[in-house]
Amino acid sequence: MSSGLRGIKTIRDFDLNGKTVFLRLDLNVPIKNSKITDETRITASLPTINYCLEKGAKLIVASHLGRPKSADDKQFSLEPVALRLTELLDREVVLMEEPSSEGVKHILYGNMKNEIICLENLRFDAGEEANSIELANQWASYTDIYINDAFGACHRAHASIHAMPEVMQKKAGIGFLIEKEIKMLDSLTDSPKKPYIAVLGGSKISDKISVIEKLIDVVDGFIIGGAMAYTFLKAQGVPVGKSLVEADKLKYAKEMIQRMEARNKTMLLPVDHVVAKSFGDVESKRTTTSAVIDDNEIGLDIGPQTIRNFTAALAKASTVFWNGPMGVFENPAFSAGTFAVAKTMSESSGVMIVGGGDSAAAAEASGYASKMTHISTGGGASLEYLQGEKLPGLEILRPRKQSETNLE
Ligand code: ADP
Ligand code: MG
Repeated sequence: MSSGLRGIKTIRDFDLNGKTVFLRLDLNVPIKNSKITDETRITASLPTINYCLEKGAKLIVASHLGRPKSADDKQFSLEPVALRLTELLDREVVLMEEPSSEGVKHILYGNMKNEIICLENLRFDAGEEANSIELANQWASYTDIYINDAFGACHRAHASIHAMPEVMQKKAGIGFLIEKEIKMLDSLTDSPKKPYIAVLGGSKISDKISVIEKLIDVVDGFIIGGAMAYTFLKAQGVPVGKSLVEADKLKYAKEMIQRMEARNKTMLLPVDHVVAKSFGDVESKRTTTSAVIDDNEIGLDIGPQTIRNFTAALAKASTVFWNGPMGVFENPAFSAGTFAVAKTMSESSGVMIVGGGDSAAAAEASGYASKMTHISTGGGASLEYLQGEKLPGLEILRPRKQSETNLE
């Protein structure tokens, strides 16, 4: 077992038959006009849900959705999610407006047949974000086993992530999604297969410094694209026009290039770009013939020669971790670099892992998502975990020292 899972029970360790399982999921899906626009997180949760049902558990699912200001913020209701679950599972999913109410017990101890209970958006209760033990005690009053499968929320010490397992003590563990996430992310730092390349992009170096520091000794090389690349180019004295540059990271960028050289490791930067006069001005789009960008232009994607360089290096890698798009991929005019990286990874037989919210969206938009080894659904949590930070939602599930444990 990989180190990240040490001491943590998984759903397989429990006898679920006839037990009430409180399943914390990440059902935080994008919703527009009551329609779910991307149901990846719902489908990703199905294996754990189905396992509970097959094992004869009485199931309560719980999740947050967005950032509601109060319980009256009905646009953040989980109702569309409950309806979709009803369809996908072919069972009635009952949405409980009052998670702490007697209504839940009423259903549980009444003549519950096939139904599943779905608690309304956990963040409608201020106790969730306050990590309220009181709220957790209310949930625990009707729960036999707590399972966390919401990796994307594990970096937050909220009641359903932290207080609840604290109360449940040994009757708490993780689901299949978290188990896979941890195994996959651990495989990136525990003796990954070489050559190992990390592709970094996105908007800012400052967001990624901790990841870079964690990976610099493990990887054989970095490939840098996206807006982040301009700070590296500028640090080497290359003019980058109006492209995004983090002035306070120029020194770091310069030093990092030197550190990679000193280690004899690969450091690939763009040698050409797709530029435009401004973000929205697709008409003025052109490809540069070198790494230099004119004063009145802004770099919005990597160029064709850069794509060839990057994909050639990726095709030879046995392990790739990709975080951060190569350009403003949300605009089709600037998506070629990002999609080329996704395509090359999808064609590889190596371990190909995508992490980060926008990167996962980019992989999805490219059409190659299903061919990746793993796309982390965790967003911020994946990066924090990879950086070696302790996630409150996982740490609370490890065996506690006697002195910290209440007597059972
Ligand atoms: P992730 O969420 O996967 O960690 P980031 O949030 O770091 O990724 O970066 C994603 C954003 O970076 C995207 O919205 C994308 O438009 C932006 N981006 C990429 N390249 C550029 C660029 N050249 N100029 C401006 N923004 C860029
Ligand atoms: Mg992002």
